[in-house]
Amino acid sequence: MNKEVAIELRRRLQIKGALRLDDITKPLGISVKEVESDGFDGALVRRSSGVGGRILVKRGIRELTRKRFTAVHEIGHYLLHKDSDRVSCGTLDIANWTNFEANPEHEADEFASELLLPSAEMKASIGTQWPSLKLVSYLAEEFEASLTATIRKYCEVATQSCAGVWVQDSRVRWFSGSASFPHWIKVGEEVDAGLLDCNTPIEEMTEVRASEWIPAFSEDKDSTLLQGCVRMPNYKGSLILLWENRQLKHRSAEDHLLEELDTNRFDSYRRERWPGK
Ligand SMILES: [Zn+2]
Repeated sequence: MNKEVAIELRRRLQIKGALRLDDITKPLGISVKEVESDGFDGALVRRSSGVGGRILVKRGIRELTRKRFTAVHEIGHYLLHKDSDRVSCGTLDIANWTNFEANPEHEADEFASELLLPSAEMKASIGTQWPSLKLVSYLAEEFEASLTATIRKYCEVATQSCAGVWVQDSRVRWFSGSASFPHWIKVGEEVDAGLLDCNTPIEEMTEVRASEWIPAFSEDKDSTLLQGCVRMPNYKGSLILLWENRQLKHRSAEDHLLEELDTNRFDSYRRERWPGK
């Protein structure tokens, strides 16, 4: 629903590619102003008539992409939450991807994500290209969105089995998997520091053990994923793209047993397991 409002708005105003804020705020009768603020990142003040209003964005926000997301998040409140005359949103309200619940902040984020990163156009830009962080960063530039917002939308539209993962202070904070990615990533748990070195060029995906990320494969030392990694020192974090380039299969206890039989000689196996016989 929130996403559909954004799609419809782009269609009606015939907006293509990177959003220019004016193209949307002018028709809606909204002005956007940067202000000094300690209390909020973004705020919306609706006119008493209910039509039009003013959006305030905190001047001190570091990245331009975050300012854009903040303004569009407020436009989301304007269109989706018509009962609210005044809305004030803090750092944890906007683009907070640990917020999954159905609540106004999440709804405004979903709206903003689609308005800035239109799914259909993203798909067209991706074409048949394989998952990589280079592709994600190219899309982020094309739509003037943050790498984080883009990796989430990328995984939403990707046909391959992949996931974006945010790691901060060595712990997984959230992950966002594509429709065909069936695994749970270890949210809240610590990640091996070696995985976060991110020394490879952004276009490279390196092979890592699936067990490093997916608890269900913790006993499986053979299965692998491809990983791209970029450090974000300002946030003490790393953004990770995982690609299940070969389908991971759970191996049953029987598979393990058969493997053991392969590697051990059958007679010694018998002696070990049934010493009495
Ligand atoms: Zn908000």
